Amino acid sequence: MSDVEDFDVVVIGAGPAGLCSAKGLAKSGFRVAVVERQPQTALAEPAFDGREIALTHRSLQILRGLGVWPRIAAGDISPIKRADVSTGTSPKRLRFDHRDTPCAALGYLVPNHAIRRAAYEAAVEDPAISLFAGQDVASVRTDHDSVTVRSGGGRAWRAPLLVAADSRFSDTRRGVGIAADMVDFGKCMLVCRMQHDHAHDETARECFFEHCTVASLPLNGNESSLVVTVTAAEARRLQEMEAADFSADIEAKFQARLGSMRLSSTRHVYPLVATFARRFVGPRFALVGDAAVGMHPVTAHGFNLGLRSQDTLAESLRRAAARGGDIGAADGLLRYESRHRRHARPLYLATNAIVRLYTDPRPLAALVRRAALEVADRFAPFKHVALAALTEANRLGN
Ligand SMILES: Cc1cc2nc3c(=O)[nH]c(=O)nc-3n(C[C@H](O)[C@H](O)[C@H](O)COP(=O)(O)OP(=O)(O)OC[C@H]3O[C@@H](n4cnc5c(N)ncnc54)[C@H](O)[C@@H]3O)c2cc1C
Repeated sequence: MSDVEDFDVVVIGAGPAGLCSAKGLAKSGFRVAVVERQPQTALAEPAFDGREIALTHRSLQILRGLGVWPRIAAGDISPIKRADVSTGTSPKRLRFDHRDTPCAALGYLVPNHAIRRAAYEAAVEDPAISLFAGQDVASVRTDHDSVTVRSGGGRAWRAPLLVAADSRFSDTRRGVGIAADMVDFGKCMLVCRMQHDHAHDETARECFFEHCTVASLPLNGNESSLVVTVTAAEARRLQEMEAADFSADIEAKFQARLGSMRLSSTRHVYPLVATFARRFVGPRFALVGDAAVGMHPVTAHGFNLGLRSQDTLAESLRRAAARGGDIGAADGLLRYESRHRRHARPLYLATNAIVRLYTDPRPLAALVRRAALEVADRFAPFKHVALAALTEANRLGN
């Protein structure tokens, strides 16, 4: 069929994971088509969406390798040097400090829209990547030796392998018949930026109350990203409040730890639903990013896992190609599946368990979480493991 364009890989979704995946595949020598429903302008100049992404050291290394990191402005990068977790009004705390690691910071915060813009710029400047924006996928057909993707607008792309990076609610995943486990936490997360009088000391603070969780993530200067987890109705109420009332409400929730606070950005609300695909691969098909594993944001692993997924997939495909093999064949894909599942599954289960324990309103649960914080703070082996997961500094070069 003459209207079909041929590539080595077609990626559906130009979110941060899809664009980084395209870069990783292009770097591995493949010609990549990226098909995205959003218009080009939304990709080139993505709007602020309230998310500040905490990146591990391993993620920084991956982003550098993809040529994405150098495109992020220094002013958009804020170090997290310490983390402080508390529960209710209890004085007990679980503390993490970068000085207990070999690193200058536990991790780095970068706004999601800055990552998306940098990944877009890196992708469009790569001659091995063709980006087709404003194209909604209408059908996917898998044959013996190729996959053909068609858009509603009548365009078509064909390759030996299809990679879906089309969000945690991936239509492509469902279209090829892969089920996903979903956990609806029945809560929403409201995120925004706030300025405050007291210095945050480059410390991320997370406090679990019975009916809400409040966290602050340190940005450059006397500004923090505020993350409030509440019911959908309360999130709507907070979002619609006058700015001054909202600021006073958050200051009170935060027990004035950061002094007087003022809203300094738009407010954004995200429903909290975690997803884990039952399989990450199928015939001539692989899932990356949130389409494979959509995490609850509390442990800040989501995009870090997305970066890891594309890295592991690209490496598996490089091996298959080096052996002269078909990159859409099962062996390379199954290697990716087993490696990424082994890495992601424990993080996914541990994150969901933490959320359940720290949002359970029963009095016994309150006792358990207070005790858990105290024990965890004093138990050096636990802190060692938790710090390793937070920073991923021990995985550099893996
Ligand atoms: C409040 C919040 C805080 C977070 N904090 C962190 C953090 O600190 N650290 C961290 O690592 N992660 C964090 N995350 C997670 C992180 O934001 C996500 O993991 C990441 O954005 C997912 O990227 P993605 O490319 O997989 O999916 P998405 O960003 O959802 O992109 C999917 C893309 O696919 C496109 N698409 C969908 N369907 C189609 C179709 N049919 N045809 C064509 N295109 C399609 C969409 O338009 C979109 O561009 C946070 C998330 C939230 C909500």
